[in-house]
Amino acid sequence: MSHVFPRHCHSELPTAVAGDGCYLIDADGKRYFDGSGGAAVSCLGHSNARVRQAIKDQVDKLAFAHTGFLTSEPAEALADLLIEHAPGDLDRVYFVSGGSEAVESAIKLARQYHLENGEPQRRHLIARRQSYHGNTLGALSAGGNAWRRQQFAPLLVEMSHIAPCYEYAERLETESLEDYGQRVAQELEDEILRLGPETVMGFIAEPVVGATLGAVPAAPGYFARIREICDKYGVLLILDEVMCGMGRTGHLFACNADNVQPDILCVAKGLGAGYQPIGAMLCSKSIYDAIAQGSGFFQHGHTYLGHPVAAAAALAVVREMLDHDLIAQVNSRGAYLETQLRHRFGQHAHVGDVRGRGLFWGVELVADRQTKAPFDPSLGLAGKLKKAAFAEGLICYPMPGTRDGRVGDHILLAPPFIASEAELDQALDMLQSALEKTLEAIQT
Ligand code: PMP
Repeated sequence: MSHVFPRHCHSELPTAVAGDGCYLIDADGKRYFDGSGGAAVSCLGHSNARVRQAIKDQVDKLAFAHTGFLTSEPAEALADLLIEHAPGDLDRVYFVSGGSEAVESAIKLARQYHLENGEPQRRHLIARRQSYHGNTLGALSAGGNAWRRQQFAPLLVEMSHIAPCYEYAERLETESLEDYGQRVAQELEDEILRLGPETVMGFIAEPVVGATLGAVPAAPGYFARIREICDKYGVLLILDEVMCGMGRTGHLFACNADNVQPDILCVAKGLGAGYQPIGAMLCSKSIYDAIAQGSGFFQHGHTYLGHPVAAAAALAVVREMLDHDLIAQVNSRGAYLETQLRHRFGQHAHVGDVRGRGLFWGVELVADRQTKAPFDPSLGLAGKLKKAAFAEGLICYPMPGTRDGRVGDHILLAPPFIASEAELDQALDMLQSALEKTLEAIQT
């Protein structure tokens, strides 16, 4: 009997024993194409030689040094590399162990920045409905996904939630995409005014929404307007690129596609590419300076900040992406994946929408294409599709629809950047077969 506490208590999980390129292999020798990189993590696949070697070399040299006493070569080099490619005046990097920690750090940094600036009344964080920013209590408070929050509601910090930019479900037929983007962005200004501009510390959003909506980019112009509103009221813009960043959506930093510059930027997942747990929070020079010239101490921290082995792995990951121009490959393979997805599913009676960017794609399932009515959430369609795909040998990331019917069941595809067109074709064969079997099972 397993003593590992699993995510789903009643499922017997196969044991992963090896990774080979885009594939995971279990103890019975069965191969699974990692079509979602776990959850948009494994961007280089599972056996990258350079990253493995970098980890071995670093462990041999220095496994750990507490950042309260010492910095390390790989953390410094990684920070330099990220800053060299980061948008705007992002100037400092705070290394943590994952996405939730990056978001927690961002929330606390935003608060401390305003304190150091003599504005202690700034305490409200505005986020968006149907969002996910992590499972620790601060990050969960920011998230607007009812299902994830429900059980913990009494423990959460009060935060505001405005509409996401989710045109498939929310745009009016009479509205252009741009007008829709401006309308939902306006909700931010309305909420700031409602709360009192002098009390708002920040706004957090994903440039391309991952887990909760399934690879939804914002409407053109949306983030430009959001930036304008934040500037007008002295509100910090925090972008959560934990899922969509690090090349996944066709730029090293996802916000470059929208030409928007955040004050604080969170990355994780693809940064360590699964080889080591690592996340990072990048902040602008003015935020860092406010703290450096104020109290001189960021009142936050974790034991494994700037872990040298994790930093060495991430440094090798980013160098691998840059040296082999893997981001150009994300764009070309992404264009291929989009064409194939549209060809196979674009006219499917139960596929309402195919959307995404780079190698980050969502397929939203609907009971009725015309009305966009989702399937009854109690059918558990996304979960069943995940299982059917897994049986075929495909890992894809499922997300159930919301109970209020605003978001349908969907699945997310985020294959490794190294996937060939032939491998993508095979993955889509498996997805197609799994979808037909699942729909047949729920309709009989
Ligand atoms: N933010 C976003 C946008 C995410 O998708 C996730 C994880 N799915 C997180 C934060 C939390 O990251 P982690 O699971 O590494 O704590």
